[in-house]
Amino acid sequence: MSETNNTIPAPADVAGTMVALRGVHKYFGHLHVLKGIDLDIHKGEVCVLIGPSGSGKSTVLRCINQLEEISAGRIYLDGELLGLSETPAPTGGLLRKWYQRTGALTGHDTVLRHLPDKAVSSQRERIGMVFQRFNLFPHKTALQNVMEAPVHVSRTPLAQARTQALELLDRVGLADRVNHYPAQLSGGQQQRVAIARALAMNPDLMLFDEPTSALDPELVGEVLQVMKDLAREGMTMVVVTHEIGFAREVGHNVAFMDGGQIVEMGKPAEVLDDPQEARTREFISKVL
Ligand code: ADP
Ligand code: MG
Repeated sequence: MSETNNTIPAPADVAGTMVALRGVHKYFGHLHVLKGIDLDIHKGEVCVLIGPSGSGKSTVLRCINQLEEISAGRIYLDGELLGLSETPAPTGGLLRKWYQRTGALTGHDTVLRHLPDKAVSSQRERIGMVFQRFNLFPHKTALQNVMEAPVHVSRTPLAQARTQALELLDRVGLADRVNHYPAQLSGGQQQRVAIARALAMNPDLMLFDEPTSALDPELVGEVLQVMKDLAREGMTMVVVTHEIGFAREVGHNVAFMDGGQIVEMGKPAEVLDDPQEARTREFISKVL
């Protein structure tokens, strides 16, 4: 874990969460895309994010993974503030004026500073992400794709990285495809390689952004099965998907997003079968 030198402890209610978002806002220029997101994902839980296109689901994942910088609020990963250090503001005098002038002073009583890139990188290593498009290296085999990050990012010895990659490919049901190139694999197989690749860094948290949306319907099941196995083994996961069956079966919580806000959140049965908000009802009637 990286050392962030924060002198302000995480709020007490962050305890036990793998991820906690507190009042997260995101602007792209003038476009206000996330409008105060509060979200807790406890360790070992699967949170499914649903909602119409453009509601901000991918942006939530990208902010958690620090692919985007948040405009306001805090995100904690396993109790550690992401991307920022937070210290008490100077109580008076020139220093306080200087902070105000440089825009560093964001509240009445705290100063936020960006962490150095190296600290951000080590925070990001704790999170695996799987995208709609598999983004495998086309000129590398399945095995080489899975070995890439351990060897080049965390300097794992080749033999060890290879053993671990073979285990992971076996776990996603691809023991007989390790030397295939992406073009020789089906979409479902490529996505399973992408999952193995994300797992190769031993993440504490896995983020999935519509992992089955680009797949032919007959290939969706094999990818969902790998995700279900992962959930059963206790991985903490945030999953953006339109697969309502998956949400119902695997999700501990379902959050419905619309217009940059979490409109409704609860157990799958509550949100999917008995939604309280009209917007949720309308969306669910369309995707079911
Ligand atoms: P979803 O994943 O729910 O479809 P997104 O998080 O991708 O939604 O997008 C939310 C909104 O933010 C959309 O209006 C989208 O056009 C906008 N947006 C996303 N990324 C960017 C970006 N890099 N620059 C500008 N606008 C963006
Ligand atoms: Mg999206």
